[in-house]
Amino acid sequence: MPLELIKEVNGVPEVDLLNKLHKVDIRSLQPGCDYDKKYIQGKLSLISSLICGENRRAILKIGLQEQDNSSSEISKINILFFGSLAKDCAKVFYEGDTIAVAGFVVLSASSSPSRDGKHCLFLKASENFKSTVYVYVKPVGDCSTESMSLAPATHYVYTPLNQLKGGMIVNVYGVVKFFKPPYLSRGTDYCSVVTIVDQTNVKLTCLFFSGNYEALPMIYKNGDIVRFHRLKIQVYKKETQGITSSGFAALTFEGTLGAPIIPRTASKCFNFTAEDQKMVEALRIWASTHISPSSISVKLCDVQPMQYFDLTCQLLGKAEVDGASFLLKVWDGTRTPFPSWRVLIQDVALEGDLSRIHQLQNLTVDILVYDNHVQVAKSLKVGSFLRIYSLHTKLQSVSSENLATSLALEFHLHGGTSYGRGIRVLPENNSDVDQLKKILESAHLPPNQSFVGVCQSEQEDSFSNISSSGSVSLYEVERCQQLSATILTGHQYLEKTPLCAILKQNAPQQYRIRAKLRSYKPKRLFQSVKLYCPKCHLLQEVPHEIDLDKIFQEGASTTPDTKLQNTSLYNSKVWTTKDQGERKVAIHFVKNNGILPLSNDCLILIEGGTLSEICKLSDKFHSVIPVRSGHEDLEVLDLSAPFLIQGKIHHYGCKHCSSLRPIKNLNSLVNKTSWIPSSVAEALGIVPLRQVFVMTFTLDDGTGVLEAYLMDSENFFQIPASEVLNNDNLQHNMEMIMDMFCPPGAKIDAYPWLEFFIRSYNVTSGKEQQICYQIFDTTIADDVI
Ligand SMILES: [Zn+2]
Repeated sequence: MPLELIKEVNGVPEVDLLNKLHKVDIRSLQPGCDYDKKYIQGKLSLISSLICGENRRAILKIGLQEQDNSSSEISKINILFFGSLAKDCAKVFYEGDTIAVAGFVVLSASSSPSRDGKHCLFLKASENFKSTVYVYVKPVGDCSTESMSLAPATHYVYTPLNQLKGGMIVNVYGVVKFFKPPYLSRGTDYCSVVTIVDQTNVKLTCLFFSGNYEALPMIYKNGDIVRFHRLKIQVYKKETQGITSSGFAALTFEGTLGAPIIPRTASKCFNFTAEDQKMVEALRIWASTHISPSSISVKLCDVQPMQYFDLTCQLLGKAEVDGASFLLKVWDGTRTPFPSWRVLIQDVALEGDLSRIHQLQNLTVDILVYDNHVQVAKSLKVGSFLRIYSLHTKLQSVSSENLATSLALEFHLHGGTSYGRGIRVLPENNSDVDQLKKILESAHLPPNQSFVGVCQSEQEDSFSNISSSGSVSLYEVERCQQLSATILTGHQYLEKTPLCAILKQNAPQQYRIRAKLRSYKPKRLFQSVKLYCPKCHLLQEVPHEIDLDKIFQEGASTTPDTKLQNTSLYNSKVWTTKDQGERKVAIHFVKNNGILPLSNDCLILIEGGTLSEICKLSDKFHSVIPVRSGHEDLEVLDLSAPFLIQGKIHHYGCKHCSSLRPIKNLNSLVNKTSWIPSSVAEALGIVPLRQVFVMTFTLDDGTGVLEAYLMDSENFFQIPASEVLNNDNLQHNMEMIMDMFCPPGAKIDAYPWLEFFIRSYNVTSGKEQQICYQIFDTTIADDVI
């Protein structure tokens, strides 16, 4: 037997299989000597993953260390196992195990000795050399006996994901909820992240590293089903996670109900039984009702601006653009709603069939990939089928030769691996590739007249007849008509009504409309944020910093009352400023059950502070309430200023609807773990104001023009109005959305169509009665933020 297990009982081998052999020290090994009847022994300090060498022969590399009993010096050596011995060893080796190897060959890793005059040596072991490996097996608990068995595995036990514990080595089945295609990690290994879930509804995230790309699970999309053997479970930052252990193996199956059950793996040797078949079928059925497909697989014809999606396509050409980006020319047989941008490269740089690329011109799109994806992109073969994950589109206006502006779709695969960004080559036998091939075969080449017929069946008038025709083709306009950059969140039963009809009708009514956004107000988006009282419906401006500063300065002119300091609710501290006429600032630290919490959990009350002081304190403390000394208790300073400041967010109350209560009422909240604005407001008798976007949209559907106003706290833009003023990113996102609705420099023909629900209502001012329109139950189409 090339591999022997020696069971240890209380640290002593049960049988002595090595008594006929002679033990040698690592330090005494020399190249060229005969080690047929000799063995070395030591602890496994390193086990690499099983890799495929020449002729698909398995290779396992380990590090062995030996401790000299007399000098306690540690010697180390690397051993390479080949062929079936490598595969067998990979199944049973664990770091820290004691092993012995007999019948090996000693080789020198370099031709010249290293600095200390010694040759750097390593060992080779394989069945061809008649090598034998002895593994001392400690009976550890019950979980590892299964995987220790060397008998051909006929029956594996699969652990449900809700029964995993740190330290276990398990076999599991699961449905993929999230994954990152393998990418080169900082070291030389490929890395892949996979989150799976099973019928217990428990999720497990696994981190896989391997020097061999193929050894990592071959997952193509969320919903795929995986089987992992010898997955090690560990607890990291309180999260249970799975990692590769020695001998780790993965099979992947398509998750689609009814699809043939063909295991995906690079391994030639794996075990797949009728029971496995049942496991996969059961998971497919469970997943079909319990897991919503979370990745968006989209065809190029359905792509919208500012979207992240997964694309299945064929590679037609590729080119290096610069060191940090790489161009892929792909197609999927369908045509994008806007023409693809063209990345400028020299023809000579392009690898691929130029005449075919030229022939398919309007069906190809240019994708720029960046950073870590460049390496993968370079290695792709023209003609191969790809899935590109989390591809990002942007709409750009481009100037053409006749100075007219048109729109083009940019495709980017950004650097990094967040959201599973990456590229994967799909095998020819993949069912998605099958489908793609059929579409590619039947794809019509331009020019294609059939689009006109399709679009005339749409009820819209031909918009391009009304506006002066720009550089955008009829085809693009008509493609746009079928899409909407907004989504309606209810009332789908309503029929679309043209604006000219709405303008003739009386209020109040509700309509579903389809129009373009001709213009909007205010142009400076941050000006659209207002404070709204849900009780009295009054709208007011968010106070300017200068006004806030004034209010706080006035508050600072009264001296804190010492009688109101250090109560059962709070500890107080008073400072006197040196300049500024000896201004006094009091800070009251609110206790929790008589104990002062840490500053990031602590609510403080501040008396006499300036705006800049309050802002600094709000960075450090959980919450800040500006107060002043009243007759009997501290009071909220002034409802013209925020009553509560949390980080950068200011919370305001309605002056008309609130009836202020003294600060001691916060007592009712001190046992709560955090200071929730609505609870603080309630305790202090304040009706909180909501931050909302208020905008006017001028809508045009070619039959008429109508002004509708939008008032929304977060549903329409999917951006909270309360945060936008302090967050440049959110402001930027909003600008991007508005630029998509109303592309700067473009003609209205090229604007996207939008669907809205609007309601009409009557407004009377003086003797005049007017009908106004408000947008409701509408949201932007995609997860663009
Ligand atoms: Zn009010």
